Amino acid sequence: MLAECASKPNNFSVSMESGLDKYSKAPHPIRYGNYIRIRTEDYEYIFDLNGRAKIISGKRGDWSREDWLKLTKGNDWIFYTAGMGYSNAFTYEGEYYTLCLNYNSNSVFDYRPFKSQYVLNALDSLQCFVSNLKDIIDEPAYSESRALLKKIINNNSGLPKPDIHNIIESSISVLPPDTRHSDYDVIPVIIADGCLYNCNFCSVKSNEKINLRDEANIARQLNQLRGFYGEDIINYNSVFLGNHDALVVKESIVAFAIGESYKLIKNTVMLDNYLYLFGSIFSFLNADEKIFSMLDDSPFHTYINIGFESFDQTTLDLIGKPVKADDSKKAFKRMIEINRKYSNIEITGNLIIGSQLPASHLTSMQDFMNENITDRSNKGCIYLSPLLGERDNNEIKRKFHTIKYTLRMPVYVYLIQRL
Ligand code: SF4
Repeated sequence: MLAECASKPNNFSVSMESGLDKYSKAPHPIRYGNYIRIRTEDYEYIFDLNGRAKIISGKRGDWSREDWLKLTKGNDWIFYTAGMGYSNAFTYEGEYYTLCLNYNSNSVFDYRPFKSQYVLNALDSLQCFVSNLKDIIDEPAYSESRALLKKIINNNSGLPKPDIHNIIESSISVLPPDTRHSDYDVIPVIIADGCLYNCNFCSVKSNEKINLRDEANIARQLNQLRGFYGEDIINYNSVFLGNHDALVVKESIVAFAIGESYKLIKNTVMLDNYLYLFGSIFSFLNADEKIFSMLDDSPFHTYINIGFESFDQTTLDLIGKPVKADDSKKAFKRMIEINRKYSNIEITGNLIIGSQLPASHLTSMQDFMNENITDRSNKGCIYLSPLLGERDNNEIKRKFHTIKYTLRMPVYVYLIQRL
């Protein structure tokens, strides 16, 4: 329940700001693109160019000045914290800040900020601030900033928010881990629903059979997404072609989706363009070479994330993934080949990690991968995904370190994050 709001907001400033125009990794908070900033005595609020709340950070009390809350376009608040230490966060996640989610996920860190009063107060403070703005907006002192403040009132006043999932006719239960390179700010465009395997262990599957979207459906999504992102579209340079397996889709449809998506973001203020997608072992192995040539020639740098899960047949059978270990191994070799061949494509892989998995899972992973990684390429990495419901985070961390320091490839933890 919303705490009682204090009276009129006073001593606040409103400004239009520009942050960095290139996604970067640094041990200090970075704001990207163009945005509206409001500073009060206690908080800094950042709103997107439509006036929708985007970031809250606290300025005093028990709030660490480095931490911040970010609202996704799926309407989830995420807490970014430096509380684990930069090098710890970077070791596990390849980023300097750890993300804490407000729903059940597979983090290796036990910190739960959404149960902390200072985080709840920050969320309440935003609602109070917006609600109190209505009382003062007509005062002469706010004549210059009135247009911006009106946008903020109109877009954060507790009315039903536009739901991006209605536009794409899908939920996004998990984003590719590589979307971290765009701070998870991706425009989702669904080109195929469902997935080929519906593995028993998987907590993110939709249980749907593969359903391919046609050009008309993709064009409709993009048209409505243009309205959804509104003025803020200029802050986006990245697209996620969903959902769980975009490589099952014909090359001509993928090319259409890429071409139309690029039109949507071509006036971005952010440098470079990124495309993210998932592929399954089967669709990856069977993908025609011309799809990779097309991706390599596209205006995007493309990341494709493949779910290997394991190279050990006992483990694959145990988790109910209907794939042969030999195919998983073939796909890994293909990943290395594509990473070498195409400068504009980077394939990364997922493997599971769990305290209850057979020892053969770990040994097969290390033996097979190290045998096949013959050089230290600067492309490709492995994400280890702790099984959902894993209770022993210390054991997961121990296993993670064993793999990280013996594998000839960068290794990070895969945090299941939805959009
Ligand atoms: S692990 Fe991948 S292929 Fe298996 S059900 Fe989940 S999303 Fe589908």
